[in-house]
Amino acid sequence: MLEVRGLAARYGDAPALSDVTLSVDPGELVCIVGPNGAGKTTLVHTIAGLHPAAGGTVHIGGTDVTALPGHKVCQHGVATVPEGRRIFGHMSVRDNLLLGAYRREARRVHRRTEGEIYQLFPRLSERRGQRAGSLSGGEQQMLAIGRALMAKPRLLLLDEPSLGLAPVVLDEVFDALARVTASGLGVLLVEQDVERALDAAGRGYLLIEGRIVAGGSTAELRDADQVRQRVLGM
Ligand code: ATP
Repeated sequence: MLEVRGLAARYGDAPALSDVTLSVDPGELVCIVGPNGAGKTTLVHTIAGLHPAAGGTVHIGGTDVTALPGHKVCQHGVATVPEGRRIFGHMSVRDNLLLGAYRREARRVHRRTEGEIYQLFPRLSERRGQRAGSLSGGEQQMLAIGRALMAKPRLLLLDEPSLGLAPVVLDEVFDALARVTASGLGVLLVEQDVERALDAAGRGYLLIEGRIVAGGSTAELRDADQVRQRVLGM
């Protein structure tokens, strides 16, 4: 599904990612954990075509998308839930969802997909006519995920979905992610709540200063000295 090999990215002369290699299979939730400034957001942006790669490759379902701009990468089935959610506050919940269905295949089935999203997040169904800006932070996160799912992606990239949310809402968000993953979607989750990320994922990678320094099952990661010292604070 997603194959990243030797990926590099920079801001001017400053390297932000070096030699990043990782993969996500269909039906798999893979997490990236790492301290602040490790390059997690840059990694999501570079995979999604929102930041240029300075080296290496990104393949989606076998197709090389490394040099494609963001709107073309979307057409290969990649949807991003950005940090800070970026929903359109003045528009209704439903209109925010419909904006997600911009791919031709997604537009054709948007009514059915919309129904599936309301099943996944019943709170959005109750509030479908309401201004999105009036939703709670947790509901806005659900809406951002719902909007991404409206594109019928094969791969979902999530940047820090837990940011600023109460634990009880996070349970709902992560339950939903487990369900969409079980339906066959590949999910790459970048998360500063390391405990929650390791609970939710099957596999993961530790990113430090733009490099992958450990990778494996979440059980292996929990035991890795670098994870314990650098992100779990043990
Ligand atoms: P956080 O968890 O704090 O969001 P992160 O792991 O997502 O951090 P990035 O935001 O990808 O890390 O940043 C990686 C490095 O690139 C940092 O050193 C950061 O200061 C730098 N950086 C990020 N965005 C820019 C930019 N627009 N211009 C210059 N440097 C940047």
